[in-house]
Amino acid sequence: MQQKEPVKKKKAQTQQNNKKKQPKFNYLWIYAIAIVGLLFFIQNPGSNNVREEIGTTKLERFIINKYIESILFIQKDSRIDITLKEKTVNTNAEFEKFREKNIKGPHFYITVADFSVFNSDVKEIQERAVQDYLINNPDKDEKKVRNDYIFDIKQNTSKAWGFEIFWLVLMGILLFFIFTSFRGIRGGGQGGIFNFGKSRAQLFDSKNNNGSSFKDVAGMEGAKYEVEEIVDFLKNPKKYTELGGKIPKGALLVGPPGTGKTLLAKAVAGEAQVPFFSLSGSDFVEMFVGVGASRVRDLFQTAKGKAPCIIFIDEIDAIGRARGKNVMSGANDERESTLNQLLTEMDGFSTNAGVIILAATNRADVLDRALLRAGRFDRQIHVELPNAKERKGIFEVHVRNLKLNTDVDLEYFAKQTPGFSGADIANVCNESALIAARNGKKSVEKSDILAAIDRIVGGLERRGSMMSPEEKRVIAYHEAGHAAVGWLVEHAAPLVKVTIVPRGKSLGAAWYLPEERHITTTEQMFDEITAMLGGRAAEEVQFGKISTGALSDLEKVTKQAYAMVVFYGLNEKIGNISFYDSTGQQEYALTKPYSEKTAQNIDEEISKLIESAYKRAKGILTENKEKLIQLAENLVEKEVIFAEDLETIFGKRQQQTETLA
Ligand code: ADP
Ligand code: ZN
Repeated sequence: MQQKEPVKKKKAQTQQNNKKKQPKFNYLWIYAIAIVGLLFFIQNPGSNNVREEIGTTKLERFIINKYIESILFIQKDSRIDITLKEKTVNTNAEFEKFREKNIKGPHFYITVADFSVFNSDVKEIQERAVQDYLINNPDKDEKKVRNDYIFDIKQNTSKAWGFEIFWLVLMGILLFFIFTSFRGIRGGGQGGIFNFGKSRAQLFDSKNNNGSSFKDVAGMEGAKYEVEEIVDFLKNPKKYTELGGKIPKGALLVGPPGTGKTLLAKAVAGEAQVPFFSLSGSDFVEMFVGVGASRVRDLFQTAKGKAPCIIFIDEIDAIGRARGKNVMSGANDERESTLNQLLTEMDGFSTNAGVIILAATNRADVLDRALLRAGRFDRQIHVELPNAKERKGIFEVHVRNLKLNTDVDLEYFAKQTPGFSGADIANVCNESALIAARNGKKSVEKSDILAAIDRIVGGLERRGSMMSPEEKRVIAYHEAGHAAVGWLVEHAAPLVKVTIVPRGKSLGAAWYLPEERHITTTEQMFDEITAMLGGRAAEEVQFGKISTGALSDLEKVTKQAYAMVVFYGLNEKIGNISFYDSTGQQEYALTKPYSEKTAQNIDEEISKLIESAYKRAKGILTENKEKLIQLAENLVEKEVIFAEDLETIFGKRQQQTETLA
C-alpha cells in the first residue's frame, strides 16, 4: 500500500507537466503512462512481501499469550492483518526478524473465506482464554481480565481501489480520445471538450461592445417600428406590466437571407443596452443524442442570469421545423427533443423574466405550429428585400467608412442594384474599396462601385477566358433576343443593361429592373415568360438552330408556368384552383393532391402556355429581325449596352412604366 502513493503522484505530475509545457502534448505519453500503470498493478497486487501467512492455531496462541495489538479485516482482499504489540516484538526471540528489519506491522496475515465465521471463532478463542486465565487466577478482577484479552476486530471495508482507479484512468483517456476526435471532425469549433452540453451562444454585451443601434439599420421602417416596442419593453417593463399587459416572449423575423435580420436584432439589444446572445439553430444540432436539448437548457439558464437580455436564434428552422413530418427517418428525434426543450423553456420562464427571444428564418411556413402559438413567437416581423429608396439608405450606411470621390451618386447605384439584399450592398461597398485600392486610387470612384456591382452580380469576371468568335455571336444574339422581346412586349420588367462579358457560370446576362409590385396579372406573367424565351427564339430566328445556352431560362420559364397553372389559378382549363400548400406539409407527401387526369391537364396546359409564348417571341423577333441584328452586332462590338442604346434602335418603349419609383 505504501508504495502506491508515490507512483500515483508521479503519474499525476507527469500529466500536469505535459499539459503545462506543451499544450499539444504527444499522445504517446498517455500510452506510456497507461502501460506503466498496468505493469505496476499487475506486479504489485498490494501485498507486503515481508508479512507471513499463519494459520488459526498460531493466532490462537498469540491471543492466549496476549501478543496482539490489533487485528484488521481488509474486506477487498478477504484478508486479516495482524499487528503485534511493540513490546512483544522487542522482547520475544520468535519475532527477531521483525525487529531486525524494523517492521512496525502488520506482521502476519490470514486469508479468510467468511469474515463472520472468523470473527466468531476469534470471539470464542478470546472467551476461552479469559475463562482459562480466571480459573488459574481466581483472585483477579474479571472485568480487567476481559479488557486484556478481548478486543474487537477492526474492519476496513473500503472497496478495492487499485484496479478501479486504473480502469477509471483508462476510461478517462478513452473518452478524451473520443471527444477530441469528434471535435476534430467538427472542425475544431469553440467550446472545449467538456462543454458539449453547453450552448454555443456568442455573447455581446457592454464589455465586448455591441455598439449597434438603429442608425446602422437602413430602411426596414415597418420592422424597426415593431422592434422599437421590444426595446421599450426591455427598458421599462413596469410601464407595461403595471397595466396588466404581458410582455411578449419572442418575435420572429421572417425574410430572405442578408436582409439584416441579425443586424436588427443586434440593434435592438444595442438600443436597449442589454446583453445579446447570438447563435444559430444549427448550433443546437449535434451528432450526440440529447446535446441539443441540454444546450437549450444551458442557454436559457445563462440568459436568465443576465436578464434583461435578448436571445437571438438565427435559422431557427434548423430546429423548428414541424415535428413528425419525416416519418421515414428516426434521425429527427434529436431535433424534435431539442425543439420540445425550446418550447418548454419558453413556457417555463415568466413573462417578466426580461428575456426576449428573437428568431430569424426565411421560411416561416415550415415552422412547427407550436412555435408560433401565443406566448411563444407570437409576433412575426416581415423583412423584405430593400426597394430602391431603402437601398440608397443602406448604401449610405455602408459608405460611411469609405473615402468617396465626389462624383459618386448613391441614388444611381441604388437604381443599379435591384434585387440586392443589404448584405450584397455591404459587400459591394467593401469590394469597391478593394478595387479602388488595387487600381492605386486615392478615393473610391463611380467606376469602382460599378465594377463591384458587376462582380457581386455575376461572380468574378472570367478574364481572358476563351470564347470562339462564333460562340460570342450566338451569345450576343441570345442576349439581344431577351432584350428585344423584353423591350417590345408591354409588361416585361424594364431592362437596365445587357452584357456578353462572361462571368462566373453564366455566359452573358441581361439585367432588368423588376418592378416592385405586389400582384401580377396573367398578361404580365405571360410577357415575362415570352421575354425569357426571347433568347432561344433569337438563336432560332438568326441561326436556324438552338443551343444549350437557354438552360436556366427554360428552368425559370417552366417554374413560372407551373406556378401560373398550379398555384395562382391563372389557367382557364384548370380554373380557379390552387394546389399551393402554405404549411409546407406537402413537400414530404408522396402523392399529389390532384388526380391523374388533372395531372395530365396540368402538363398539357403548361406545355401549351410555354409553346405559345415561344411562338410569340419568335414572331416578335422575326418581325423585327433587322433591329435584332443591329442590336446583336452592337453587342458583339461593345460587349455591354444599356437601355439608351435599345431606345435608339427600337424607339421609346410603349409603356415606360413607373420604373425607379
Ligand atoms: P440576415 O441575418 O438577415 O441573414 P444580416 O443581418 O446578417 O442578415 O446582414 C448581413 C449584413 O448585411 C449586415 O451585417 C449589414 O452589414 C448588411 N445589412 C443588411 N441589411 C441592412 C440594412 N437594412 N441596413 C444596413 N446594413 C444592412
Ligand atoms: Zn437567356
